[in-house]
Amino acid sequence: MNEPRQRTSTRCGRYARKYAEKSGTSLHPDRAVTETVVTGLARHIEQVGKPLCPCNFYPDPAAEAKQRRWICACDEMQKYKYCHCLLFVTPEGVPITEYLPEDHEGRQAYGHRTRPVPDKGRAMAKVLGRHQAEGSTGG
Ligand code: SF4
Repeated sequence: MNEPRQRTSTRCGRYARKYAEKSGTSLHPDRAVTETVVTGLARHIEQVGKPLCPCNFYPDPAAEAKQRRWICACDEMQKYKYCHCLLFVTPEGVPITEYLPEDHEGRQAYGHRTRPVPDKGRAMAKVLGRHQAEGSTGG
């Protein structure tokens, strides 16, 4: 597999740091974990033009990129603040599972892990919550 250009990896690393800050999460304390995920994101940018999550297998990466659900930060991250790649985690390096449905595999694997900074992140969940509230009062 081709290595991504340094410039692309640097861009992805910058994005990861900013998104961790914005979402109230931390990058993994083991830098090798972060570097591996960032390199995978950069590889997908060069392959399909989008930072597709590197921790899934896609039979057709280009088609998957059009779906958007696994473009970082993916739907699961924006909805549940859960990153199964361990890019955005608690300071101890465990994924946040607090918002996952009980039957989600992340809950089974890691138990109930709360978010360190409750008021940040989950942009999609906030939008969905607003829509629900408007729907319930909008008659
Ligand atoms: Fe990004 Fe989601 Fe993959 Fe984590 S699981 S690296 S947030 S796409």
